Amino acid sequence: MRTCVGCGEEATQASLVRLVLTEDAEHPVAVDLVGKAFGRGAWVHPVGRCLEGAAKRGLARSFKAPVRVRAEALAELLTVAGGRRLTGLLLAAHRSRKLAVGSDAVTDAVGRGEAHLVWLAEDAAAASRLSSVELMRRAGELVEWGTKARLGAALGRSEAAVVAVLDARLASAVRTAVAVASVVRPAPGSSGGGGVQSVDESTEVR
Ligand SMILES: [Zn+2]
Repeated sequence: MRTCVGCGEEATQASLVRLVLTEDAEHPVAVDLVGKAFGRGAWVHPVGRCLEGAAKRGLARSFKAPVRVRAEALAELLTVAGGRRLTGLLLAAHRSRKLAVGSDAVTDAVGRGEAHLVWLAEDAAAASRLSSVELMRRAGELVEWGTKARLGAALGRSEAAVVAVLDARLASAVRTAVAVASVVRPAPGSSGGGGVQSVDESTEVR
């Protein structure tokens, strides 16, 4: 168990994100999603109000030093670090043959009970209506993150609309990273690139 520097509540390490202090005055805080970076760490829930609390006083109190960082900057750090981690996990699952790619392969994996998690691209309209995808959504075993092009690029294809993770440990890591990467979402209608909403209750991840 660790204590969130935002809300002060205890939580499991898996539900928190580790922040570390850097030597860089411009970017005093970095995200350590693997939990192995050197330096002093502080833990925070990847939700808007905890990032607010961390930026206001939690980090300074934990590090016993002034930390000049805004909640919005923390949220952006989490979004970027979470996205990078997700791309890495996708590739790791693919290389270790623990990934089913595409509608047919995902439907087969779900049918055989081998899919621990279905991961749908956010712009995958057709795949989102597959009965296998709907089944996993109802079971709470579905995440949505990234575009078809972004998932495809990680796998060396032009696009990938849906994949299934066939390993429990990888599936759990993907869930955590999606929660981190989704702490803020681009404003509706924006094509990304700076369209990050301010951190408030409405952008929070459950
Ligand atoms: Zn918290």
